[in-house]
Amino acid sequence: MIRKPFIAGNWKMYKTGAEAREFIERFRPLVKSWDRAQVALAVSALSLPEAVKAAEGSQLLIGAQNTHWATEGAFTGEISGAMIKAAGGQVVIIGHSERRLLFGETDGWVAKKLAAALDFGLLPIVCVGETLQDRDMGRTFNVLANQLTGGLAGLSDQALRDIVLAYEPVWAIGTGVTATVEQAQEAQAFIRGRLSRQFNPEAAGAVRLVYGGSVKPDNAQALLSQPDIDGALVGGASLSPDSFAEIVNLVG
Ligand code: PEP
Repeated sequence: MIRKPFIAGNWKMYKTGAEAREFIERFRPLVKSWDRAQVALAVSALSLPEAVKAAEGSQLLIGAQNTHWATEGAFTGEISGAMIKAAGGQVVIIGHSERRLLFGETDGWVAKKLAAALDFGLLPIVCVGETLQDRDMGRTFNVLANQLTGGLAGLSDQALRDIVLAYEPVWAIGTGVTATVEQAQEAQAFIRGRLSRQFNPEAAGAVRLVYGGSVKPDNAQALLSQPDIDGALVGGASLSPDSFAEIVNLVG
């Protein structure tokens, strides 16, 4: 099964529109080949229009870091998939651990957001991952299984092929501690095995599973060469055009 590598940057609450434009202008010429991987940047919702404009004429996908499930309504502070799409966004992160832990997002919300994102024609990047406490207590696989059951509830076999799943151990995000290659591959193989029971095995074989958690140019190669790691979700190292391009250029 050939799965096209997927490398996405998650800018979190960094970069204004002007900074996003400057980044993208510097980043575009640094990418050696746009055909080897699909490359995306999840920017602040406010920077979306400017980032989309700066990416025009390239294969760089621009998107958001969160979405509500409704098209519109009385949901103060939220943005909808319709709004992301209207601003030119093509991808959206759903269920990032910061959303889960700091803003109370549940697997039930993830499932609703996922369905809405697909309805609006966005490419969803659904995040799962265990905390350090979960890992220390031997609960990693239980937590992942529950997140997959709850977060992907109602998803069809066909739709599974259209999403990207990011395994992001919470203890490795923004900490500088990367999961070892063995830990990452073990968890990602577990996820694919689990998906092949929850969905049709062909769809589980086709879905792209990416790793996230302190991915940097010097550790990306080893992670990306694992059989069940089809790419990366990159936080800190996606804030510099040079380091993000270095990671993208490792693919292929
Ligand atoms: C993330 O925000 O999804 C992430 C993986 O961050 P970092 O690369 O900084 O650990």
